[in-house]
Amino acid sequence: MKKLSLKAKCLCGNVSFKTTGYHRDVQNCHCIQCLKTHGNFAAYTKVEEKELKFLNKKTLKWFKSSKRAKRGFCKNCGASIFFKVLGTDQICISAGIFNKPTKLKTSMNIFMKGKSDYYKITDKLPKYKKYP
Ligand SMILES: [Zn+2]
Repeated sequence: MKKLSLKAKCLCGNVSFKTTGYHRDVQNCHCIQCLKTHGNFAAYTKVEEKELKFLNKKTLKWFKSSKRAKRGFCKNCGASIFFKVLGTDQICISAGIFNKPTKLKTSMNIFMKGKSDYYKITDKLPKYKKYP
C-alpha cells in the first residue's frame, strides 16, 4: 500500500482519470477471465473508489463478467481498464494504464489455477491458487 497521486488514460485517451490515496501493490492475476479479456494475465492495483476522479469517461463501458463482478473497458480503443467486485467500495485498475513513473510495485501472482501453459512465471513473488 502506497499513498500516490497518479494519472491514467486509455490508448485513445477517451477514458482518463486521476487517482489519489492508498494504492494496493499490483497483483498479477492469472484467472481465466483476465486471460480472456486482457489477452494475457492482468496486473491490477486497487484504490478506494472515492479516490478515483474521472476527467473523461465518454467511451467507458461496463461488462458484467460474472455474478459478483463487472469489468470496465474503453469501447473505442478496447483498453481493459477496471475490475470491480459489486457492492464493494474499492475498484481494481489495470496498472499499465497509469502514466510513468507509477511508483507501484508488483507483490504476488494470484489465481494460479487459471494460468495458461504458454508462459512461465520467472519472478520470485508468492504464488497463490486463488487469493492469499
Ligand atoms: Zn480508449
